Amino acid sequence: MGYVLGLKCRECGREYPKEVLFVCEYCFGSLEVDYDYRAIKKELTKEALAGRPKTMWRYKELLPLDEEPTVGLDSGFTPLIRANNLARALGVEELYIKDDSVNHPTLSFKDRVVSVAISKSKEFGFDTVACASTGNLANSVAAQAASCGLKAYIFIPADLESGKVVSSLIYNPNLIGIEGNYDEVNRLCSEIASRYRWAFVNINIRPYYAEGSKSMGYEIAEQLNWKLPKHIVVPSAGGSLITKIYKSFKELEKLDFIDKVDTKVYCAQGLGCAPIVTAIKEKSDIIRPLKPKTIAKSLAIGNPADGYYALDSVRRSGGWGEEASDEEIIEAIKLLAKTEGIFTETAGGVTLGAAKKLIEQKIIPRDEPIVLCITGNGLKTQEAVVKALPGLIKIKPSLASFEEHIKNNLHQRISEEKVIEYYI
Ligand SMILES: *Cc1c(COP(=O)(O)O)cnc(C)c1O
Ligand SMILES: [Zn+2]
Repeated sequence: MGYVLGLKCRECGREYPKEVLFVCEYCFGSLEVDYDYRAIKKELTKEALAGRPKTMWRYKELLPLDEEPTVGLDSGFTPLIRANNLARALGVEELYIKDDSVNHPTLSFKDRVVSVAISKSKEFGFDTVACASTGNLANSVAAQAASCGLKAYIFIPADLESGKVVSSLIYNPNLIGIEGNYDEVNRLCSEIASRYRWAFVNINIRPYYAEGSKSMGYEIAEQLNWKLPKHIVVPSAGGSLITKIYKSFKELEKLDFIDKVDTKVYCAQGLGCAPIVTAIKEKSDIIRPLKPKTIAKSLAIGNPADGYYALDSVRRSGGWGEEASDEEIIEAIKLLAKTEGIFTETAGGVTLGAAKKLIEQKIIPRDEPIVLCITGNGLKTQEAVVKALPGLIKIKPSLASFEEHIKNNLHQRISEEKVIEYYI
């Protein structure tokens, strides 16, 4: 297998061999994987897909490996849920949740990019993988390196949520907490990457790594029976996922899997860290780096590496952007749980919080199909919501104690009407 022609500069178009390269030496643009789409079109058909396993690797021709994948074989093909209860609460007709909070093995969309990056790193012959992470990437690199016996060096801001720290430590990587924010972690990692021969999945392996995100877009299209939604809301940190989802739709159009792409792409960010959304709203071509201040720590990147490409994808699609404040994030996490039984992390709260505002502002119309990308799991960011929940009711282990509780709480029971009111 292998349909990769080489790498190509996203800015000047110069071509490079498919090696461990990531910046153009002429213009410093970032490099992207270049495929032989004509050959892919012959091999990858709807009929061919029918017999393949339900993982992200069913689209392997569109992923940048030269050999069969060796890591993350069960990642992807997460559920696309028709969210009727949430649709009612938001007052929209047709709503879907793409639920990457149950991705294998570490419960976030990062399992897609890491499956590709580590499989590719093994093709290149590396014995050590590394990353700069806001949390979920750390979890996935730690787990997947463990699963294939590679050494891992993982760099995170020291103040991450304990769920994210424990979910890395358990796999026994070299986990290093940096006293600084993600952008400082990333800067340090770029220096380290130039001195050590390690596969930094999101630095020197980035062109390959980033392609893994496209699988989320292919799956959404296939799960909707090869019809794209009119609107898709994507949470952004570095801006890679949103760029690659739009690219995946364009590729499916090129391969004749779908009609012309007519999907508006919306960028969702936390209010205290929205450099991409700010540029969208100001109709500016400049993304101003900032110091992040949001409870959505997985999205807390103040200087997004793919910010311009994210901006370009949103604009070309005719989409827009919106922020969610910390309170709106918490409310949205609770709303998703209450209506659909899905517990997402703060990034998912950003997606839903932003989508709710886009719908209220009539930027997203109520009568057209919408997909919300839920990218991570709420078990990892429990401290964000714990204070917003009622305490645990404690009683003695006796029927009398239970019945006393019932009697005391009778008057507090919410009537049917109030429940409906609350949803709206
Ligand atoms: C990393 C991450 C994102 C954003 O990804 P980018 O490609 O950096 O924009 C979204 N959601 C979650 C849960 C993440 O961990
Ligand atoms: Zn170039």
